[in-house]
Amino acid sequence: MGGADQVRITRRSSMTANGDNVKENHGGDTRNLPVDAVINLDHGDPTMFESYWRKVGDECTFVIKGFESLSYFSNPNNPCWFLEPKLEEAIKNLHGAVGNAVTDGYSIVVGTGSSQLLQAVLFAVTTSLEHASQINVLSPAPYYSSYPEIVDLVKSGLYKWAGDAHEFDKDEPYIELVTSPNNPSGVIRGSVVNREGGVLVHDLAYYWPQYTPITSSLDFDIMLFTASKCTGHAGSRVGWALVKDKEVAKKMIKFMEVNTIGVSKEPQLRVAKILQVIAERCKRFGSPEGDDFFEYNKSLLTERWEILRETVKKTQMFTLPKYPLQHCNYTGDVTQAHPAFAWIKCKEGIEDCEKLFRDHKILTRSGRRFGSDPGFVRVSMVGRDEEFKLFIDRLSMI
Ligand code: PMP
Repeated sequence: MGGADQVRITRRSSMTANGDNVKENHGGDTRNLPVDAVINLDHGDPTMFESYWRKVGDECTFVIKGFESLSYFSNPNNPCWFLEPKLEEAIKNLHGAVGNAVTDGYSIVVGTGSSQLLQAVLFAVTTSLEHASQINVLSPAPYYSSYPEIVDLVKSGLYKWAGDAHEFDKDEPYIELVTSPNNPSGVIRGSVVNREGGVLVHDLAYYWPQYTPITSSLDFDIMLFTASKCTGHAGSRVGWALVKDKEVAKKMIKFMEVNTIGVSKEPQLRVAKILQVIAERCKRFGSPEGDDFFEYNKSLLTERWEILRETVKKTQMFTLPKYPLQHCNYTGDVTQAHPAFAWIKCKEGIEDCEKLFRDHKILTRSGRRFGSDPGFVRVSMVGRDEEFKLFIDRLSMI
């Protein structure tokens, strides 16, 4: 297969936070990692999915000729004129095949990752609310660590980050970001503030069968998805929003027009192809070759989680969240979640869990970054195999 065989080898020598000059992995190829390499499990870089896409071979190879896709416009008949019709169709087909979200009656807005769409949503909702002062944007801790940065980056006059939704006690309008399954903790969440004058934005980046049981087809007002976590194609930077209210969708489209005059066509077409292949392969669920994307990757994640739980149990140093057994409408079995991140709690007395891991050359993200306790760290479970194996070796020696 073309692209996957040309993986770039990126290893640099650099200083860690505690001053050791060690080889650090910055997310490039990690095959043949030296035993003393620093393993970077800070980001949720979804390279685990490469093994599936290697298997698929040329079915997803996508060629674009020099004379194609020059125009700014993708579909003048759609209010979202920069959305490629093939991507729109593939998104609908995939949600239909998986049964995780309703698309009938929704406007689809495409973005450069769901990160850009989140900004478009904040603009759209706050300009509709016409409130005199900045609208509070909240999420219950532990919340996705990028939210505060995304919300406050440009110091907008329209909205501001107001922190942990559990602690919100103002009688003011608000936007609550509901991340389900949650990053970092992997739990299924609902809204927590539940007051009048609130707008909910559902960030459903991880509501796919490889991570969590699919228990219903969701139909919230604003739902965000991303190819980054669905298929692992984070580098393509394609996300989509399903939006019930046409006026909100229109304002999001306006934001995208002014921000980047739409979204590049090449990644849209590539992701369209990839989503279409996955949707088609959903019909091959249970095939001995492991053709179904979700089934194949769920089984990889299940295995990793079993190994992690076993190791954590032996060390008696850490605890992991427990997830309920639920019936998954997609796989048809009763299963637990196998989240993209492990939310690890160090035993009592260890105040800085991130430092403990760093001393063992494992880079993680401190609970503090998620509005939570430094006694927790978030560890990516979706890196390459070799990285995961090294992580487990080191964990068992702590
Ligand atoms: N929401 C959540 C909960 C995420 O974890 C991420 C990626 N880490 C995103 C949104 C953004 O994804 P992207 O911009 O790659 O689409």
